Formats: sequence, structure tokens, C-alpha cells
Amino acid sequence: MTNKYMYFIANWKMFGDLRTLNSLDSVIKFSKNNKISKFRIIYCPPSTLIRPLSKRLKKTNLEVGAQNCHESENYGAFTGHVNSKMLKNVGAKYVILGHSENRQSGETDKLINLKIKSAIKSNLKVIFCIGETLSEKRKKLTNKVLAKQINNGLSSIKDTSDIIIAYEPVWSIGTGLIPKSKDLLNSISYIKSKFRRKVPKVLYGGSVNNKNITELKDINIIDGFLIGGASQNSKKFIDIIKKTFN
Ligand code: PEP
Repeated sequence: MTNKYMYFIANWKMFGDLRTLNSLDSVIKFSKNNKISKFRIIYCPPSTLIRPLSKRLKKTNLEVGAQNCHESENYGAFTGHVNSKMLKNVGAKYVILGHSENRQSGETDKLINLKIKSAIKSNLKVIFCIGETLSEKRKKLTNKVLAKQINNGLSSIKDTSDIIIAYEPVWSIGTGLIPKSKDLLNSISYIKSKFRRKVPKVLYGGSVNNKNITELKDINIIDGFLIGGASQNSKKFIDIIKKTFN
């Protein structure tokens, strides 16, 4: 496709245990034997695995991220939550925020904005997820929804240069469906056009697999992929990376 620098971010969601980490040995080997300057691999496991994974990846080119955080970077009486400072402390360098699975369970743009600010304060890089639902797409509201999520989610954040945006249409997550190339190109261009100066990296996420990657890789303004299901299978994950550069 291209020899630009691409992101491959694995979102393991609520899957994986200590034994699962052994499956990453092949990805570590693959990354060592390849021109890692061309791509960046980031694993976002459940928070129970951040510490063991970051230890395991210490002398490798792979990095670790978290899947969410509390909006307060201070400690407090918030049973069941972890904050950005705690994630940083156990080795996370990134955090996914605004994922539609969390938006669907009540996260608002305002809350996501607070979480992003807290993550930045803790020196975590943010992977900010945005995307329209199927009914919004059918009503031709995609750009309107994206603009609202960007404006509200990044409200009063001056330096957005370190933020990675993941465009994930809600209807494509876990469904096997991906947008038509023309629509995807339009959405990614639209997202980039919302930034005047430093345009952030914009990834695509939603049912990326080792078959449809051959189509997705041709949209050369995409800066990488956020991969859910297929990232849990190291063979498929490696295949996706290889095919992106073929
Ligand atoms: C995700 O949940 O971020 C995602 C992209 O999932 P999947 O690849 O399984 O659609």
C-alpha cells in the first residue's frame, strides 16, 4: 500500500487471561523481524492484563494501552473504577476512550471529554473513538454526528496533536460489515478536515479482518486500524499487518 507509518491497535475487549499472553510470542517475533519503523502495534487488553503484558513487552517494539478510564485522575471512592494515573503506573501508554460499547452504556460526549483531559494529564495517549449508528447513517447524519462527537469530545483541549482518532461506525463493529470505500474515504477526509493545524492520525475500526484488509488498505488516507475480534488471533492479526503493506 504505502510506506507511511501505520498503527495496528488491538482491542481485546473483555477477553483474555494470563495464558492468552503466550499467544503474543508470534507477534513479538514478527515485529522483530520486520521494519518496525513502518508500523506501530499497540495491545489494549483488559486492565487485569496491563501489568503482566507491559512486563512481557518490555524489550519489544509492541506497546500497551488500556480500554477506558475514570474521568478523575485523583484517587477517590469510586468502587470498581481505575483512573488514568493508575493505568500509567502499571505500564499503559495509551487509552481507548469513547468506544461505542461504552457510549451505548451511557457515556456522554461530556464525560468522554473529561476522561480525555484526565488521560492527557496522566501522560497517556488517547485513542478517541467516534462513529455513527446505522439509523444515523440511514438519515445521512454521519458528518453531523462526527462533528458533534469531535467538537464536544475535544472541547477546550488545545493540543490535539497526540490524539489518535478511531473512526468506528457503530454498525460495523463486530458485524462483519465495513463501509463502502467511497463512504469511508469521505468520512476520514471529513474528520481530518475538522482540524486546521495539526491533523491527528485517523484510524478505521469495525470488522477489520485478514480478507477485507486488501480493500481497506487502498484507502491511503487511513493511518491504521483499530481491530477487535481479529486481534485475538495472532495469526490473523499478523496477516492483516502483512497484507496492509503488500
Ligand atoms: C472494536 O471494538 O473496536 C472493533 C473494531 O471491533 P471489531 O473489529 O470486532 O469489529
